[in-house]
Amino acid sequence: MIPFNSPPVTGSELDYMRSAMESGKLSGDGGFTRRCQQWMEQQFGSHKVLLTPSCTASLEMAALLINIVPGDEVIMPSYTFVSTANAFVLRGARIVFVDIRPDTLNIDETLIEAAITDKTRAVVVVHYAGVPCEMDPIVRLTEKHQLYLIEDAAQGVMSAYKGRPLGSIGHIGCFSFHETKNYTAGGEGGATLINDPELIARAEIIREKGTNRSQFFRGQTDKYTWRDLGSSYLMSDLQAAYLWAQLESAEQINQRRLALWNNYYSALQPLASQGRLTLPVVPEGCTHNAHMFAIRLEDNDTRERLIAWMKEAEILAVFHYIPLHSSPAGEQFGRFHGEDRYTTSQSERLLRLPLFYNLTDNNQKTVIGSLMSFFR
Ligand SMILES: *Cc1c(COP(=O)(O)O)cnc(C)c1O
Repeated sequence: MIPFNSPPVTGSELDYMRSAMESGKLSGDGGFTRRCQQWMEQQFGSHKVLLTPSCTASLEMAALLINIVPGDEVIMPSYTFVSTANAFVLRGARIVFVDIRPDTLNIDETLIEAAITDKTRAVVVVHYAGVPCEMDPIVRLTEKHQLYLIEDAAQGVMSAYKGRPLGSIGHIGCFSFHETKNYTAGGEGGATLINDPELIARAEIIREKGTNRSQFFRGQTDKYTWRDLGSSYLMSDLQAAYLWAQLESAEQINQRRLALWNNYYSALQPLASQGRLTLPVVPEGCTHNAHMFAIRLEDNDTRERLIAWMKEAEILAVFHYIPLHSSPAGEQFGRFHGEDRYTTSQSERLLRLPLFYNLTDNNQKTVIGSLMSFFR
């Protein structure tokens, strides 16, 4: 069986986890957490990076940090994972969904301004498949209307827009280290990137149950107290040890994923020129991280038949995102602004092929062979 995903393993994870255990410090903000955070601050040029239990937790931190209150509106695409919306709904926000672009499946930057009302507080972009959203006009727009810009960069670690790393462009960026993402912290994990220096102090407090414990440990205060709203948004140092093994090999993992992505791309190009499927698009000026290889088929029926065909060959290919605006909670907590030209129609045609760090060349050839025979 060729799985759809298998968590990345580089080889040094166990050594680092053992060393974390021997250090006698397993809770959050230990040595490995510090190493991971500093590495990301340097690599991505973010003022402050904080490891969290998940991207979901990072998005929740973001909603707390920008003081979302009931009645506020937050603009985002409908074609995304539930956490992008839930984090803000938990604070009482109403979600305003905007259509996506048919090429990258990212939010259509030209449709955002018309969705802004006097209740709008933030725009949340999602870099789908690790391919950057068109950030320049979105940054201009959010500055003009004095809105917060938040990046759900769960899939975008190591991608860049015009040389700027994803996650470092908005006021706040959120990464995922879930096992289905490019780098994992032993199954679950995330990071909050604080790019607006004014948000750093409060971010540390919110992450530490609403206390100034982080300042206390740095010797900046002689006791710590309850200061603000907060929760427990720390990652265990044992998980950070696993993550450190992955970050140390980040370039190697990235290169391998890109090689696999490029193999798919060139093998499927003939089918694309015959109009049998649509290949992913990476716009000019963007570098991506090969998070996903998603093809689009003629229609839902062709997709179903291809999934069954591949399953017969013991290959697991999957699709995702039932658009949020048409799901029960989405109908309750949000509304779609404008016309749904692409969100639903593209989501019904999309299929994701197996792509993970430890996928072998041979297994990838089997996947490509199965696709070729289907179209023959
Ligand atoms: C995976 C993902 C999340 C959630 O990440 P977790 O770390 O599992 O909480 C959020 N948004 C997007 C776009 C994702 O792909």
